[in-house]
Amino acid sequence: MATSTIHTVAIIGAGQMGGGIAQVAAACGFKTLVCDASSAALGRCRDGHTKRLAREVEKGRMKENDVQAALSRLHYVESLEMLKGADIVIEAVVEDSRVKRELFAKLATLFPTQILASNTSSISITEICAAVGPQGHPERVVGMHFFNPVPVMKLVEVIRGLQTNADTVQKVTQLASALGKTPIPANDRAGFVSNRVLMPLINEAFYAWMEGVAEPQHIDEIMKLGCNFPMGPLRLADFIGLDTCVHIMNVLADGLGSDRYRPCPLLRQLVAAGRLGDKTGKGVYDYAPQATSSPGHTSSMTTSKAAVGA
Ligand code: NAD
Repeated sequence: MATSTIHTVAIIGAGQMGGGIAQVAAACGFKTLVCDASSAALGRCRDGHTKRLAREVEKGRMKENDVQAALSRLHYVESLEMLKGADIVIEAVVEDSRVKRELFAKLATLFPTQILASNTSSISITEICAAVGPQGHPERVVGMHFFNPVPVMKLVEVIRGLQTNADTVQKVTQLASALGKTPIPANDRAGFVSNRVLMPLINEAFYAWMEGVAEPQHIDEIMKLGCNFPMGPLRLADFIGLDTCVHIMNVLADGLGSDRYRPCPLLRQLVAAGRLGDKTGKGVYDYAPQATSSPGHTSSMTTSKAAVGA
């Protein structure tokens, strides 16, 4: 149910994360406005909501009338101006500091008093706060880091920038709880806690592959069986998006001042080839329908070593 201060949630970015946050917000009773610069992305987001919510009924997790109510709370809009009336804006666009800072500068004017949250995986919340300018009330800018897939993952890392005030942190913490999530605070350092720990592990798996230590499937199986991970690091990288992994590693390298966080050349090469993972149908693994099936994964997976020079 909507909290007393927040009734309408605006989400900018209708990709994997924005779409997931929107689905959860609508299912939890919030009027939800979703905006994306790409009308194709908005269309995919709408189709994804219809399909995923229908599956909730098939699996007996939601009733048909609750799904219809959730769908009726979702609105897809193509301009920021059409988000007016929202009590909070959650930004989930590409992991690029310049793009986010330009967007927050615009949001500061369009939304003079509302909370402005970023779902960034790694970029400094303090820098994003600064983008709204001293007159734009940087104290209401905060990090609200959801995990993928949002309808399944319980964690929201709540990140307080240097300028963020306690009231803002409290309100987004309450909102995360109202969305059925577990909010946990973290301070504003590159990658926060989650990606500072996770991304070097993923990057190291690419190095292991590049150096021929083992095949991708074997790296993933070793980490699943040996460390009790639900998913191997290379499979997870495909799921996150290899472009997003590169962006996050670059933020860690710059923010933490060490070359040990630089993205592995093989990871960068796959991105340069447009192999971004699940979202493009090919990354470390090939998810094309004709690809050979691999046990334990819902998608078919093959890898082509030659194409990536490993
Ligand atoms: P994505 O590539 O699936 O979607 C990004 C969307 O943003 C695209 O639809 C694009 O059209 C849109 N967009 C880009 N610039 C825009 C702008 N200026 N205005 C409006 N829309 C714009 O990316 P994603 O995986 O959903 O990641 C989004 C954010 O969430 C990133 O900051 C990422 O680091 C973070 N995040 C990602 C994951 C993950 O596992 N993928 C997990 C947690 C957080």
